[in-house]
Amino acid sequence: MLDPRQLRLDLALKLLSQAGARLPDNEPYSQAWLQDVVDALCDLSSKDALTGLVNRRSFEMALSREVDRVARSGEPALLLVVDIDHFKAVNDTYGHAAGDLVIKAVASALNQGVRPMDTVARVGGEEFAIVLPSCPASFGVMVAERMRERVSELQVEVAPGQVLAVTISLGGAFAPQWVRSSSLLWMERADRQLYRAKAEGRNRACLEVQVESLVSAEEKGMLFAVTQQESE
Ligand code: GH3
Ligand code: MG
Ligand code: MG
Repeated sequence: MLDPRQLRLDLALKLLSQAGARLPDNEPYSQAWLQDVVDALCDLSSKDALTGLVNRRSFEMALSREVDRVARSGEPALLLVVDIDHFKAVNDTYGHAAGDLVIKAVASALNQGVRPMDTVARVGGEEFAIVLPSCPASFGVMVAERMRERVSELQVEVAPGQVLAVTISLGGAFAPQWVRSSSLLWMERADRQLYRAKAEGRNRACLEVQVESLVSAEEKGMLFAVTQQESE
């Protein structure tokens, strides 16, 4: 039987403490305490420290899972990539700390605007990505527009009496249904739309036109049979 006291947990605890994570407060080395340490380490490796959102690594895993799911189920899924507009100006004019407050406010607005099954991540400095499983093509523009609007309504107080307004640009692409693809290709397609939103003037959402699937029920069955054989 494992004696948890013999585990070298000092480094893990030091890491958690340095990261400002809340240390478990139940009986040290009890099962519940150990579980709390494991949970806190998982959080630390999968979440972004500034915003508490899922980090890039974790998001890429979620996206790969979604690509597999769409290939098998054919359910539509939307990927949105988001970039804050003219963010350098915020840093340059009000300082890095003010910039951080803006990033946090945008993160929270995006996170509050989605369903529990959706994943919002911070994938770069002032860049975010959202994966929305089971999102019909007809809802895509509406969802992206809702996000854009939520952020444009923010009033971020960066210093006493100093309130900033902020906008975002969004790019979106649906996962290709009934074909094998990759999370990287999906991300590239959404990025292309973000680039277009920036070029067309910012504070807007551009979504790739969704091509209706012409795959027959028989062909869908054949694809599923192949993926099943491969996984055996
Ligand atoms: P655009 O509308 O084209 O996106 O213009 P932009 O000024 O937002 O340009 P860009 O997206 O390239 O700006 C990224 C800036 O974000 C540059 C960098 O200094 C800043 N940044 C990156 N990470 C952080 C962070 O964690 N905190 C703060 N305060 N700033 C960051
Ligand atoms: Mg950027
Ligand atoms: Mg930007």
